[in-house]
Amino acid sequence: MDSGARNELTVQGIAASQGIAYGQIFVYLQNEIEVPSYQVEPEKRIEEVARFDRALVVTRQQIAKIKNEVEKNIGPEEAAIFDAHLMVLEDEALIGETIREFEATGRNIETCFHQVSTRYVQAFEQIDDEYLRERAGDLRDVAQRVLQNLLGQAENALNRLADRRIVVATDITPSESASLDRSAALALVTDSGSRTSHAVIVARSMKIPAVVGVRDLTKRVRDGDWAIIDGYDGLVIVNPSESTLFRYGKIQERKKSFEARLLEVNRLPAVTLDGVGVSLMANIEKSDEVGQVQEFFADGVGLYRTEFLFLNAARIPTEQEQFLDYKRVVESLAPKPVVIRTLDLGGDKPMSGNAELFPKESNPFMGFRAIRWCLENRDIFKNQLRAILRASAHGKACLMYPMISGADELARANALLEECREELRSRNVPFDAGMEVGTMIEIPSAAVTADLLARQSAFFSIGTNDLIQYTLAIDRGNDRIAHLYEPTHPAVLRSLRHIVTEAHRAKLEVSVCGEMAGDPVFAPLLLGLGIDTLSMSPAWLPSVKYLIRSMTMADARALADEALALGSAPEIYARCEAFYRARVRIE
Ligand code: PEP
Ligand code: MG
Repeated sequence: MDSGARNELTVQGIAASQGIAYGQIFVYLQNEIEVPSYQVEPEKRIEEVARFDRALVVTRQQIAKIKNEVEKNIGPEEAAIFDAHLMVLEDEALIGETIREFEATGRNIETCFHQVSTRYVQAFEQIDDEYLRERAGDLRDVAQRVLQNLLGQAENALNRLADRRIVVATDITPSESASLDRSAALALVTDSGSRTSHAVIVARSMKIPAVVGVRDLTKRVRDGDWAIIDGYDGLVIVNPSESTLFRYGKIQERKKSFEARLLEVNRLPAVTLDGVGVSLMANIEKSDEVGQVQEFFADGVGLYRTEFLFLNAARIPTEQEQFLDYKRVVESLAPKPVVIRTLDLGGDKPMSGNAELFPKESNPFMGFRAIRWCLENRDIFKNQLRAILRASAHGKACLMYPMISGADELARANALLEECREELRSRNVPFDAGMEVGTMIEIPSAAVTADLLARQSAFFSIGTNDLIQYTLAIDRGNDRIAHLYEPTHPAVLRSLRHIVTEAHRAKLEVSVCGEMAGDPVFAPLLLGLGIDTLSMSPAWLPSVKYLIRSMTMADARALADEALALGSAPEIYARCEAFYRARVRIE
């Protein structure tokens, strides 16, 4: 690609986290590197092999440096992972075969190394042995580094991002996203992904503008390109012209002044024009987000995704470490409630470096995840339950289980919780005996059996991100089918109505803590359907509150009734959007 005067390129993706950023791109390639292929002249062949040797030496130095840092900052056990990486560089077969391939074909050394290492990775991946399969990952990592060094590319480690850059990646994992330095990452753009993928939820909570689902953008840009990222409308504009920059400056001003208007309602109560109060809560991923919960005057925390405490840890946090973390949140928000969700690890959130606990699965979202994983890792689960119970003595904690599929599973979880209560009682450790224990409704079987689950629950919280994905059989992280992920699908609405009816029949309150709750286009529909509480990323509270203060609950109920009578998702969406536009003007 020519780096000279390049044309403006506009790519439409999915708006994932609000905000506008302008800056230079940092291309983060995890698995795919474009390897140029060309013939090397016979007289340059000695130099080509020397180039390979130099790249191996540099790679060795880089890995040794990382190993030292990890040893210093985390510990020797974790640093040992990098011994395996160093061993790859000593592998006679890999290096020797690359040179032989080069001598036989005369193709450039990157091509030969890429072919040989890919063959090795594939061979390891197919071996039916956990340890050897793991080595495929080591090999892939190291091969990538060697290729980057051969191609003269910068070391692509996200957590080494020093400048203020827009990160453009094929995809990133939730833990990579959580390790982003918010002062260094101006914005995040990914080829794949969706609004509800966990990596994006994390970016949103860090207030990093994000656009996802831009397909092959990583192949169309290069490090250092300038770009505008529009996280409101899902646009990426690479090499913007002067006039675009000017226009965007104006748009940004307008959006800023609208945001200022939104902030005016920040301190005011969430009450509709006909006097109905709505409870608005915050979703958090880390305990240090309590500041935001207070800043946006949330009525408490409706969802604390505790797995993020585990995801970036070098080892499983102890009961005491967890207790201190939960206590910090509960205590600083008391007397407001904090709903602590038990671990939702697995699926797209495995703990890295723990292959034994998180075996590779071909269908992770339907696999060994959340409560299923906890019920089979009882010691880890019970440590968490005790930590939450102990935290409940310091404010108003509530507990809820993710991914419950039916009454038996819920009974098993509750039985373990009872065991934990007994253990604490026998040790005279204080906890709140009346702590409410609720159930997340995010699997269709749970929605259908809501009446049965209600008998064992103090409240329901609907995880629409998962409920939609499982109801419609649409992988929430897959950009190819993202257009089919329709929150307004009649099946979703009917399911929500059913859950609310059963919850209210049993005198339980029901909240929505999926991303739908924080979208002002959907919030009136949810409230009209009878949802009692909306829980969302703190930064979204003002826009939802603004809308609530501009509508009547009677209108929201009429909207829900009308929507339930319609037969298609786009029609329902159009009604919701019209409802929103009639009440909120950005200009
Ligand atoms: C949900 O599924 O809607 C939810 C809130 O949980 P998570 O996004 O963490 O799966
Ligand atoms: Mg969920």
